[in-house]
Amino acid sequence: MSTIPLKERFFSDQRFLPKAVAWFLFFVFLVFLAGRYYTVIGAEIYPVLHMVIEFVIVVVAICAALMSWYDYKYKHELKMLLLSLTFCLVAPFEFAHALSYMGMPDFITPNTVDKASTLFIITKLILAVGLFVAVVFGEKIVVIHRSALIPALSFLLSAGAIYLIVTNLAVLPDMYDVAAGSQTTLKVFLGYLVIAIEAVAALWILTKKWAQNKDLYLGMALIIIIMSDLAFTYYFSPYDTYNLLGHIFQVFSFAFIFKAIIDDALGMLYETNKTLARQWEMLSEKNQQLLEADRLKDEFLANTNHELRTPLSAIIAFTEILLDERTGPLNAIQKDYLEEVSDSGKELLDRINGFLDLSKIAAGKTVLYKEEMNVYELIDDVLSKMRPLFNQKSITLELMRADVAVKVWADREKTRQILTNLLSNALKFTAPGGRVTVEVRLDDVANRIFISVTDTGIGIEKSDLEKIFQPFQQVDGTTARKYSGTGIGLTLAKKLVDLHGGTIEVESKINKGSIFTFMLPTEETEEKGKVS
Ligand code: ADP
Repeated sequence: MSTIPLKERFFSDQRFLPKAVAWFLFFVFLVFLAGRYYTVIGAEIYPVLHMVIEFVIVVVAICAALMSWYDYKYKHELKMLLLSLTFCLVAPFEFAHALSYMGMPDFITPNTVDKASTLFIITKLILAVGLFVAVVFGEKIVVIHRSALIPALSFLLSAGAIYLIVTNLAVLPDMYDVAAGSQTTLKVFLGYLVIAIEAVAALWILTKKWAQNKDLYLGMALIIIIMSDLAFTYYFSPYDTYNLLGHIFQVFSFAFIFKAIIDDALGMLYETNKTLARQWEMLSEKNQQLLEADRLKDEFLANTNHELRTPLSAIIAFTEILLDERTGPLNAIQKDYLEEVSDSGKELLDRINGFLDLSKIAAGKTVLYKEEMNVYELIDDVLSKMRPLFNQKSITLELMRADVAVKVWADREKTRQILTNLLSNALKFTAPGGRVTVEVRLDDVANRIFISVTDTGIGIEKSDLEKIFQPFQQVDGTTARKYSGTGIGLTLAKKLVDLHGGTIEVESKINKGSIFTFMLPTEETEEKGKVS
C-alpha cells in the first residue's frame, strides 16, 4: 500500500482538502438549517424515521466490522482488528438503542428516553475510544491466529452488556431529566468527552507526517462524527431537528469509515493486480529474449556443426586411405592407432549429425519424405547393422516377428534413426549377458503401429522419466560419465516421432530394465509441420 506525505496528498489531484472543506461547509449549513427551522417532529413519524436511519447505521457498522476483520486477516494490521472490534461492539449497542427509543415496542424493559440515552452515550463512548485506540495504537502488524473469534466474542460481549445495562438502569446515573425535559449535565459532559476523544484522534491522523488513503477518510469520518455529536449536544427533545441531524451525520461518518476500509481492501487488490500486470510484462519480455536467444543458439549450432563436419569428414576419409595401405604398408601399432582415430572420428561425426538434426528440427527445416513400407524390412535392416555391436557385448538381440506384413506410413531414414537411437541406448545401458527385444504391435482399428525396444538394463528412476526426453538431459552425471553420451538421442527420437504425428513412451524399473515404445501411423495423415 502506498503511503504519501500528507501535505502532498492534500494538494494532490485527489484534492482531498477541497473535498473535506466542501463536506464541512455542507454540514455547517445543515446545522444552521436545523437551528433556523427548529421543529419537534411528530411522534407518529419520528420513531419510524429514527428506526430507518438506525437500521442503515447498524448495517453499515456490521459491514465495516466484517470488512475490517477481513482486511486484518490478510494484512495483520492491528488498526483493522481494532476497527473490527469497535464496530462489533457498536453495532449491537446501536441496535439496542434504536429498539429502546420512545415509540418503539418495549425492549426487554419498558422503553424510556433515559434508557435510549444511556445506550446511546455508551455506544458513542465505545465508538470514540475504539476509533482513538485504532488510530493512535494501530500502526502495528500483529498476527493473531483464529482472529475470527475476536469479532464473534465481541458481539456476544456487547449483547451481554446490553442486557445488564437495560435491566440495571435504576442503579445507573440518569442521562435524561424527564422533569426538565432535557439531557442531564452528565450526559452533556459525556457528549463533550466523546467529542474531545474524537478530536484528538482526528488531529492525530491529520497531523501525521505520512498517511494512507484510508487514514484520510478515517480523519474525515472523525470530523463528521464530531459534527454529529455536536448536533446531539444541542437537542432538547429526542424528536427534534438537531437529533435527526445528529443521526444523519452519523450515517455519513459511518459511510466514510466504511469507504476507508473498502478503499484499503480494494487498494490492496488494485496494487496486487498492478504488480501482477508488471510481472507479466516483464515475463513476456524475458520470454521474448529467451526465444531470441534460443533461435540464435539453434542458428549457431547449425552453422558450427556444419563447419565441424567438413574437416572431420576429411580426417575420416584420409584415415581410411591410410588404413587401406594405399600409401604404403603400416605396422600393427600404426594400424591400431589409425583405427582408433577412425572410430573416434566416426563417433564424433555421429554426434555432430545428431546436433545438426536437432537444430534443423528446432528451426522447422526438417522435411519428412513419407512412404509406405514394410516395418519388418526396416527393422531387419537396422538390426543387421547393429547386431555385431550387441554380439561384441554378449547381449542377445531379438525381434518378435508376427507372421503378417506390417505396413507403416513414415520417413524411412528418420524411422531408422529413431530405432537406432533406442537400440543404441538399450545396448549402452544393458550389462553383458542381458537381452534386448524389439516388438511390433499393430492397432488395426486406429491405423497405427507400436514399436517397442525392451532391455534388461539399469532402468530409470520414475522421477527421471519425464526429463530424459529433454535436450542434454542425462539421468545423472555419474551415469553420463560411465556410459558417455550427449543427452540428445532421446530428444531427437521424440522430435522425429512427433513430426510423424506419433508418440513415444517409456516404462522402466530400476535394475530391471526399460521399455521404450513409439507409435507411428500406418496410413497417410495430415502433416504435423513444425515441431518446437
Ligand atoms: P545419451 O544416451 O546420449 O546420454 P539420450 O537422450 O539417448 O542421451 O538418453 C538420455 C538419458 O536417458 C541417458 O543418459 C540415460 O540416463 C537415460 N536412458 C536412455 N535410455 C535408457 C535405457 N535404455 N536404460 C536406462 N537409461 C536410459
